[in-house]
Amino acid sequence: MSERTQFYTADEIRERLSISTLVFRQYRPISEGALEELARHGIRKIELLESPEQFDMTSRRSMRFIRDACRSCGVEVAAYHAHKTNFSDLDTESERSARVDLCRRQIDTMLDLGGALWGSHARATDRTLVRSYEDLARHVEGTGAVVTVENFTAEGLSVEDRMAFLDTVDLRQVGLILDIGHVRDPDGVNPMTIPGGPTRVLELCGRRLRHVHLHGFKDGVDHHPPFVEGDGIQWVELFRMLRTVGYSGVMNFEPVGEPQYHNSVEATGLVPERIVEMEAQVR
Ligand SMILES: [Zn+2]
Repeated sequence: MSERTQFYTADEIRERLSISTLVFRQYRPISEGALEELARHGIRKIELLESPEQFDMTSRRSMRFIRDACRSCGVEVAAYHAHKTNFSDLDTESERSARVDLCRRQIDTMLDLGGALWGSHARATDRTLVRSYEDLARHVEGTGAVVTVENFTAEGLSVEDRMAFLDTVDLRQVGLILDIGHVRDPDGVNPMTIPGGPTRVLELCGRRLRHVHLHGFKDGVDHHPPFVEGDGIQWVELFRMLRTVGYSGVMNFEPVGEPQYHNSVEATGLVPERIVEMEAQVR
C-alpha cells in the first residue's frame, strides 16, 4: 500500500461533505434556491438546523416541503440539529415525557427524510438527561440512527463532561457531536488550534464520536468559514485523526454565513481538494 492511500482522497471527503443550514440562518429560507447553491459548490448533504419560524421538525406535513426541495436539488438530509431542544427546564415526569415525545416525533420525520443522526443542545448532564437519552436510544434502536449531545465551553458541558455522560448511558446509538470551536484547555486556549491538541481530543472521543461541527477559528471566535485567513484550526492533524479513530460520520461544516461572511458555502465546497493538498505538503 502506498503512502498516498494513508489519507482520505478528495473524493472520499466530497462524498461525506455536509454543511449545517446555520449558514443560511436569519438570512435565507431553506428553499430550492438555497439548496441549489450548495449543490453548485459540490455540497450534497446538510445538517438541518431546527428553525421553527420556517418548519416544524415534529410534523411530517411540514417536513414534506423540505424533503421535496432537497430531492429536486439532489441534496440529502444527513442530520437534524435540534439546537432549541434541551432537557434542563423540566420539573415533572410528565414534562419530561412530553419533551421526549417531541424529540421522538422529530426523529421520526428525520428518518422519513433519510437522516440518521439527531442531536440536541442538551444542557446539563444530569439524571433527567440520562433517562431521556435512554428513552431516545430505545426509540432509534434497529433504525441505524444515532442520538447525540454536543460539547460547549460552559461549565459541565466540556468534551470530558460529555464523555462521562456517554459512559454512564453506554449505548452504541448514543454518541458525541464534537464541535471543534467549543473545546477549551484549562488555560482558555482551544486545543484544536495547537499541534497535538486534535490528537488528544479525538483520542478522548474515540468510538463515541458520531458527528462533527467543523468551522474556522480565529482570534478566539468560532463559526468562521474553514481556512479563513488567520484560521488557527490544525486541519491536517484533525483530518488525520478522524481517519485514525475510524470516524464514520459525515464531514459536517458549521460556519455562519451571510451577511457576516460571504464565502462560507464556497469555502466549504473547496475543503476536499484543499485539505488533501495541505496534507500532502506537510508529509
Ligand atoms: Zn456546533
